[in-house]
Order: sequence, then structure tokens, then C-alpha cells
Amino acid sequence: MMTKLKDLYQEWIFHFDKPLIISGPCSAESEEQVLETARRMDKSYVQVFRAGIWKPRTKPGSFEGIGEVGLQWLQKAKKETGMLTATEIANATHVKAALAHDIDIVWIGARSTVNPFTVQEIAEALKNTEKIILVKNPVHPDFDLWVGALERLAAQGIKKLGVIHRGFSAYKKSQYRNQPHWQIALDFRNHYPNIPILCDPSHICGEREGISAIAQQAFNFEYNGLMVETHRKPDEAWSDAKQQITPERLLEILNRIKLRKEDDTQDIEYQKKLSGIRTQIDELDHNILALLTQRLQLAEEVGMLKKNHNIAIFQPKRWEKITERLGHFGKNLGLSAEFTETFLKMVHQESINIQNQVMLKEAKKD
Ligand code: PEP
Ligand code: MN
Repeated sequence: MMTKLKDLYQEWIFHFDKPLIISGPCSAESEEQVLETARRMDKSYVQVFRAGIWKPRTKPGSFEGIGEVGLQWLQKAKKETGMLTATEIANATHVKAALAHDIDIVWIGARSTVNPFTVQEIAEALKNTEKIILVKNPVHPDFDLWVGALERLAAQGIKKLGVIHRGFSAYKKSQYRNQPHWQIALDFRNHYPNIPILCDPSHICGEREGISAIAQQAFNFEYNGLMVETHRKPDEAWSDAKQQITPERLLEILNRIKLRKEDDTQDIEYQKKLSGIRTQIDELDHNILALLTQRLQLAEEVGMLKKNHNIAIFQPKRWEKITERLGHFGKNLGLSAEFTETFLKMVHQESINIQNQVMLKEAKKD
């Protein structure tokens, strides 16, 4: 019978007594580079050593991975340091090679998660495996595609599943290489609290700056661990040089991170303060919804008026004025421009839906 995602247990994550930290180079380049990076890793934090063996590069002509020989270097690193090993697999041949070299954890990369044929091929090659399989989010923010990849693996009897949030690509350049869109990852956690979730701050940031902030944010959301790219000489890395850090820098970051626990503290003062703040929040949320209802009732009246005067629902000039005026207003209040814009768009969309319904209703009567 097919295992349902919701029925999976996350027991495997509890075998790691600390947050699961997976780290190592973006790509395995040489035996020395793999072994030196592994040796310099702080084993009290890093339980799993990663290295990419087959690299899905955006454009041809760049380094596409060292291939199977690198798996032997990972085996050596494991034997010498005791860390488990992990690598990315993107087809059935990779799976066979990784299993033959006793790699402990394999992950499906963001560019593979997008393709159901690829995921199906990998899932069948891994059928009934006891290994841990991690699935990175697809490159674009498609929640169902991410879940679908896990369902394909579960359908092949694979039980030790986890996901990695590595951010989502966007056309527009921004502060991040891949937008974090925390909400999607949090939705994932809310739907499947039984599936462990890790964060990959390296691919979110695309540069060294910001890795520690994203890592902290992941723990603020109670993620189960991190995957971070480290290299013995980051500037000389053959892939993703800008975002790799040294093992020593990783240790500094991990030493500073604060782990957030589930809210089960018995501290009376803390509980009193928190419940005071929550009461205020609940009241404000209540008022916000009541105000929004009033706001949307006016949309209904506007819909009637427009209908009676044969005016189109969407008036770009009016919308432009609203966003400009409220954009300034929000900024002066200290709200982020992104939040104000998203909020206004949502309200506006609902207002348009309501006006549309009014017009449709009236049209039926005609
Ligand atoms: C990687 O981890 O090196 C990698 C290629 O990641 P992603 O699939 O997130 O791009
Ligand atoms: Mn990489």
C-alpha cells in the first residue's frame, strides 16, 4: 500500500542529538580538497559531509562535476573523520553509483525537483531504500511540485524523507540569489509537520554576506538543521565560489546561533508578558478584519454605481494613485514597501472580485 506523506514519521531526525548540520564543498574537485575540507570541519557540529559529484550548471562549458571518482574521496573522508556523507543525485545512474559507494544521504537538487520524470526515475531507482533522501524545493515557488516529488518517493516505499529550503529564483535581481519566500516553507511545515526541514542559506544568499542571518532565521522558525557550503579555499572554488565559506567561518556562525525551542517554558513572568501581548494582537486582528469588511462593503456599492454608469471595474489611474499615496504613508509608518504593496494588492484584488460579482448578478437579472 502506498505510504501517505502525512503518515511518515520523522524518527530519523531524532537520531541526531543536535540540529542536523550538513556541510562541505559545492563540488568535489580533488582528493586533497575533499579531505582537507573534511578534516577542518568541527565534528561536534557537522555530522554530515557533503560534496557535489555531478553538477547541474546553468550554462554549458563550466565545471560539471568530477564524476564517480569523487565518491571514493567521500568514502575516504567518512573513514577518516567519522562524518556521514551526502551528495546530489539527478538520475538512476547517479543513484546506482551513490548506493554502490555507500553514500549515507542523497538529495534531489532544485533543478531536478521541477521535473516529474526525473523524480520518478530517481524514486524507482531508490525503491525501498533505508537511506535518508532530502528534496530541495523546486527552483520556482510551486508548493505542489515540491510535495509531488515527496509523494513519488513515498510511493516507492521510501520512509526517511526530509526537505531543504534553498530559496526560489526570480527574474528580477534582488538582495538574494534565490528568494527565501519563507511562507512557502512554513506552509510546508504546517501541512507536513512530520517531515524534517533544513535550510540552505548558501544558495539563498549566493554570497557569504547574509548566510548567518538566514541561518538564524531558519532556527527562529524551528527548522531541523542546515546545509551550508564550505571550501578549504572558497575564492578558488570551481563552482559557487562567491557563496562558500571556510569550515572555520562556519564554526563561528554556528557558535553564535541561538536555537529557539518549542513554546513549553514554565517561566511565569515570560508567560504573563506573552499572553498580555497576545491579547493585544488578537484584539487588533479582530479590528483589522472588521475594518476590512467595511472596506469591502463599500466595494459592493462602487460595483453597483459602475454597473449603472457602464464603467469598467479596473481603473488604472485610481489604482496608481492609491498605491502611490499609501506607499508613502506605509513607508512613513515604518512598514516595508513589499508588505504595503502585497497587502494593497490583496485588498484590491478582493475588491475587484466583489465588483465583478455585483456586475454578474445584475447582468443575470437583465
Ligand atoms: C548544490 O547544493 O550545490 C546545488 C546545486 O543546489 P541547488 O539544487 O539548490 O541549486
Ligand atoms: Mn552549490
